[in-house]
Amino acid sequence: MKKIILLAAAAMMLAACGTKTAETAVTNPMDTLLLKNYHPVNVNNIPQTFIEKAKFPVIDMHSHDYAANEEEIDQWVKNMDECGIELTQVMHCSWIGEEFDKAVEKYSKYPDRFQIWCCFDYTEVLEGKGCDYAIAQLERAKAMGAVGVGELGDKGDGDLYAAPVEGRGIHLDDPRIKPILEKCGELKMPINIHVAEPYWMYLPLNGSNDGLPNGADWAIDTTKVDLGYWGLIKSFENAVRENPQTIFIACHYLNMNQDYKYLGELLDKYPNLYIDLAARVPEAAQIPRATREFTLKYQDRILFGTDNGMSKSMYRTIFRFLETEDEHFYSGFNYIWYLNGIYLPDSVLEKIYRTNALRILNEYK
Ligand SMILES: [Zn+2]
Repeated sequence: MKKIILLAAAAMMLAACGTKTAETAVTNPMDTLLLKNYHPVNVNNIPQTFIEKAKFPVIDMHSHDYAANEEEIDQWVKNMDECGIELTQVMHCSWIGEEFDKAVEKYSKYPDRFQIWCCFDYTEVLEGKGCDYAIAQLERAKAMGAVGVGELGDKGDGDLYAAPVEGRGIHLDDPRIKPILEKCGELKMPINIHVAEPYWMYLPLNGSNDGLPNGADWAIDTTKVDLGYWGLIKSFENAVRENPQTIFIACHYLNMNQDYKYLGELLDKYPNLYIDLAARVPEAAQIPRATREFTLKYQDRILFGTDNGMSKSMYRTIFRFLETEDEHFYSGFNYIWYLNGIYLPDSVLEKIYRTNALRILNEYK
């Protein structure tokens, strides 16, 4: 009798653990929740560090014309002061000629806090008339205060960020623009360029795609472009190699966080190549040990950049990534990956925050 009661109890326990009654059954959220609505919150009781201000003064080498008016520029400067950003490089793809002058004027209230970059004018290049006009425009912008050129952007069809005309079909190693790239070296104007996109974007956008939830909304149709990922990298490398007097800043880690070995080999080969970390902190922070090792090794070639608006929380998330040992925190950058800090030593932090940029902005002059 006793044995029968025990067996019955065991059966009841099994039922409680392994099956659901009609009253307790819930819909499995995995069947209904959309990936875009998944915004996890860290539950771990682990250190969370708030970095109000960067440890060293910062030069932001990758920003854009985010301020809509003077009030917003004033607010931006306040945010920069509170976060320790001493100088911001403002780039815009359409700034050349009169548009460039307007940009200079717009930020002229704070000449020590903002510097303006220009772009290339491909109008006559595309008409088969050579580079004289583009070079004249470049020299004009330089005389008006342009610090560098960028952000250029080749996602497969040529420099699509340019204005007044897109540089469609003009990849960076196009012989038609070599004189312009050489002129940048002569004028000591570094070129910031966005090459390709993160590697996952070139893989099928399906359930096994590592990056899909982070940016499916900005993925490009890589099957419809002229050059694919490695074609773009090659075209960029050709230009860097063929123009050794010109400094190239491949923004977003050259969109190559997935292969630090390859990226390191490029940096080894070409002393005129730099990278910025703008807008790829989540890519870097989800592989913290690899990123730390890479950053220590190439500490003289990495530039701080944001590319992400003007908010204090944006700056502070990047400081947290660079300065702390915090683990498993979310960025607020619309990424599903969690981030981890890479706790750089002070000597390296200072280079990335400031000294590497100064070397380009001052000594390269
Ligand atoms: Zn940018």
